[in-house]
Amino acid sequence: MSRTVFTGGLVFDGTGTQPFPGEVVVEDKRVTHVAHGWTEAPRHHEERRVDCTGSTVMPGLIEAHSHLTFPSAVGHLEPRFNPPLDVSFFHGGCMPDDHLTLAERNAGILLDAGFTTAYSAGSLTPGTVEVRLRDRIRSGAIPGPRLRAASFERDSAPLRPDGTPTSTGAEAVREFVAEQAALGYDNVKFLLSNDDVFTPGGSQQTQYTAAEAQAAAEQARESGVWLNCHAQSAEAVKLAVRNGFRAVYHCTYADEEALDLLEARKDDDLFVAPAVGIVYANVHEGEEFGITREVAERMGQPQCLETMAELYPEMRRRGIPVLPGGDYGFPNNPIGRNARDLDLFVRVFGYAPTEALSAATMLGGRLMGMGDELGLLAPGYLADLLVVRGNPAEDVTLLQDRANLLAIVQEGRFHKADAALGLTEVGAATN
Ligand SMILES: [Zn+2]
Repeated sequence: MSRTVFTGGLVFDGTGTQPFPGEVVVEDKRVTHVAHGWTEAPRHHEERRVDCTGSTVMPGLIEAHSHLTFPSAVGHLEPRFNPPLDVSFFHGGCMPDDHLTLAERNAGILLDAGFTTAYSAGSLTPGTVEVRLRDRIRSGAIPGPRLRAASFERDSAPLRPDGTPTSTGAEAVREFVAEQAALGYDNVKFLLSNDDVFTPGGSQQTQYTAAEAQAAAEQARESGVWLNCHAQSAEAVKLAVRNGFRAVYHCTYADEEALDLLEARKDDDLFVAPAVGIVYANVHEGEEFGITREVAERMGQPQCLETMAELYPEMRRRGIPVLPGGDYGFPNNPIGRNARDLDLFVRVFGYAPTEALSAATMLGGRLMGMGDELGLLAPGYLADLLVVRGNPAEDVTLLQDRANLLAIVQEGRFHKADAALGLTEVGAATN
């Protein structure tokens, strides 16, 4: 049995309490011991010790709104997918195998950024690219975050892969959910509302009826998949909550009634992710990509950011589980920059750094349906962890610099181990 002790540094266990000087013991794929204080010398003759002096050991980050099939990643910007200005990415014929190659690259980049798990918010195209991606990560064929794969996003009158429109109504919704489940998806995504980004005034347009949302929920239960939704309007949020959608994204225009509903269900496997990263990028970091102030305003983005900045402190006050995950995959918001969402939780929403970190770890484990084995450093939990130079509970921006990620570990296996850790092998321990 391989045994690794992360010692000499701080431990942030994911619960939201302040980091403490301590050590974490990993045996094979799980954490077996978390202790306050440090041991001086190996207690076992086969023990690998990782010197975490000056660093913090914490659970791997979990992305709650990932789009690994979106084309832009750090170092690989794709201007041809920059909606609404340019969507010519689709015109060249995005062949499934090429798309899979791109998604695999993105998965590696997201893992390199410290995200050991990702909950997908939707695929860019119909078909099975993200299912294949998930399976290739799971089998160890490629590096990447543990993934729950999500279908492409069903609009109110979506197109089939062959280009023909599907019909609306409860039966069509049921059929879609069953089809996506049969393709192997874990999550099925609905655009319960439109969006100002797509069409002026779109965020207030609710695109599904109560009967359709209920049909989706019934079929999801029958097919064993979970539902995600894009929900900007208050009515869309209410539809989602009333019908047991698991991940409710954006929620920007939630009214009092929607907030009350969210709060009433806050312990029932209901999770909110604002996806603030893209909104912030559209308002402040779009110029270079043609998203001028004028374009951002046409897309409703300054108003969206202002509304979120008032709404999310209220969600926090009510104890609604809100998770980082910011629609990364656009040229001004590329995959790999995902940890920036934690800083936005702190700066824009008023979260304490420990709360933002806990949302990206402990709550992420719950979102994945793995709350008893993922997202915390505690005995029995999967050893998905990071060693971060410095103390991210004092400054979450440390997580944005890959050079600070000294170690990235998934289920006890080192994806990355910086030389600075002075990793020493004792005895014959291998991993
Ligand atoms: Zn999204």
